[in-house]
Amino acid sequence: PLAQLADATLLKTDALIDGQWVAGSARFDVTDPATGAKLADVADLGADDTEAAIAAANRAWPAWRAKTAKERAAILQRWYRLIIEHTDDLARIMTAEQGKPLAEAKGEVSYGASFIEWFAEEAKRVYGETIPTTDNGKRYLVLKQPVGVCAAITPWNFPIAMITRKVAPALAAGCPVVIKPAELTPLSALAVAELAQRAGMPSGVLNIVTSTNSSAVGQVLCKSDLVRHLSFTGSTPVGRILMEQCAPTIKKLSLELGGNAPFIVFDDADLDSAVEGAIASKYRNAGQTCVCANRLYVQDTVYDAFIAKFTEKVKGLKVGNGFEAGVTIGPVIEDKAITKIEAHVSDALAKGASVLTGGKKSGDRFYEPTVLAHATSDMLCAREETFGPVAPVFTFKTEAEAIALANNTEFGLASYFYSRDIGRIFRVGEALEYGMVGINTGLISTAEVPFGGVKQSGLGREGSHHGIDDYIEVKYLCLGDI
Ligand code: ADP
Repeated sequence: PLAQLADATLLKTDALIDGQWVAGSARFDVTDPATGAKLADVADLGADDTEAAIAAANRAWPAWRAKTAKERAAILQRWYRLIIEHTDDLARIMTAEQGKPLAEAKGEVSYGASFIEWFAEEAKRVYGETIPTTDNGKRYLVLKQPVGVCAAITPWNFPIAMITRKVAPALAAGCPVVIKPAELTPLSALAVAELAQRAGMPSGVLNIVTSTNSSAVGQVLCKSDLVRHLSFTGSTPVGRILMEQCAPTIKKLSLELGGNAPFIVFDDADLDSAVEGAIASKYRNAGQTCVCANRLYVQDTVYDAFIAKFTEKVKGLKVGNGFEAGVTIGPVIEDKAITKIEAHVSDALAKGASVLTGGKKSGDRFYEPTVLAHATSDMLCAREETFGPVAPVFTFKTEAEAIALANNTEFGLASYFYSRDIGRIFRVGEALEYGMVGINTGLISTAEVPFGGVKQSGLGREGSHHGIDDYIEVKYLCLGDI
């Protein structure tokens, strides 16, 4: 699939440190999850290279922070435009290494780029403060300054957007970055880094350390005194490890961790709209997003009607290679994803669920979109993220019961509900213990809004005007002798 790139020079396979492409002494294979075919071999760097990247970022910092916000914004805007211009090639690279359907990959390129555009604009609006004095001989001022070298560790499910969402606010604020992209999807990361180079990003400001030894690279990033902030998107267990490793240096942390999103359909919902929303939320990226509906709760009086309409629509989804026209569900990322999905389905069946459609593999890395009726709270799929195209549908009787079921998890990232009752919308919207609530919609993400979770789903918010705060230190100046 990569032979057809319009601009073959976007296919970078070396890491980027201090403006130089680094081949490293070892290489690792990147494969197409749909076919298992090798796509490229990429530099497999280690602890020493990570130290070098941090040192380069630290050297680049003074000049980068000394640029005016407008100068940094101009580079970010050029980068944004280059990404948009190369949408087709970037999407091809993404579908090849990640598997998502090409149309979804193009959507991600545009979504990923939008964070660069947004934070290029926000760069110019990092306002300080003057505080009314309580002593006429003094004045109180607040400056906002870049935190310093930032590290980012990103996952494979959104190979571009999870990088830009962290890197754009860091760069906008005046911080250089060292990125460790997921080892399964480094090509997308390197292609956008190449475009950053073409946009005029100074050497050392944006570094990419590709590696299969994520724990060694992670340890160096966490332990370094020079790295002042670590941003991570991935699983909650790895988030816990990183948080612990960052304790000795009291590093600032942004964590976007796992979710277990409830999707509640009340009896007053527009059922057709709820079905559309559930399909969009559940099956996007083959169910491999941290905001995918994981548990569908449908009120008992509309359960049969909802499930009939929903199953009908799910049967219309098309599984296949993301490059084939009309495919809506690509492969899952790796074999162990299939193992987890199969474990969740067989556990549910053993505990009384029934399969209305799907329920099996269709080829090595492909799983049929599945609807499980009569799901119950004791099933694995009620407690853990399935991260696959499986929708367990539970039932409930009252609003209070729905809220209690939805909140019965250590996670708190995204949640969704459908209702046309304005009182209920406020009651339930306020009661759900989640960072994000989609009401009468299954799609909530955009650069302008704060994305993030509560409880064990993480710390901090990405996107929106809040998204730059994690990359900024607040400094108070007290001026006496007035
Ligand atoms: P996922 O289930 O999405 O693969 P992970 O949390 O395993 O989630 O991976 C997300 C990112 O974290 C990837 O870039 C991966 O390489 C990295 N990672 C995994 N384990 C560690 C670790 N011990 N230290 C640092 N990074 C890690």
